[in-house]
Amino acid sequence: MYSWIDDIISGIRENYNTDNVYELYDYLEIKIHKIEASNILLRGNDSFYYRDFNDKEIVFIRNDIKDTMEAFILFHELAHALLHTQICQAAFNKNFTNLGKFEKQANYFAFKMLNVSFDKVELESMSIDQIASCIGISPELSYLITDY
Ligand SMILES: [Zn+2]
Repeated sequence: MYSWIDDIISGIRENYNTDNVYELYDYLEIKIHKIEASNILLRGNDSFYYRDFNDKEIVFIRNDIKDTMEAFILFHELAHALLHTQICQAAFNKNFTNLGKFEKQANYFAFKMLNVSFDKVELESMSIDQIASCIGISPELSYLITDY
């Protein structure tokens, strides 16, 4: 769908020899801060990326988000950090609809980086929302599975 993003993903896997999101944040020196959902820094979103927050590149993320979804969101913000260098800050909210170009690209990057494997036979009898729930991503993102 986005072959230039596929190329960047291959480059990341080659350069860093990992697709573990926490290791990548370490390598790239982007800080992760888990905070309460009510914290003003999130402005009501699931996460918030700042390219320059007191001279640090940082992602604030809600501290009540489950493993896979947390990895997805961190990859999503990593996409903004790496692909969208013209953006200084970005919010992620799974309830966002009408996604703009950058949000779609970041979701695509995140879903690819998650590297979920599909058992087509097993999934045949499932709805797309059930598959999303199996993978551990929120149903709002199930369009990524259809497009995959
Ligand atoms: Zn975003």
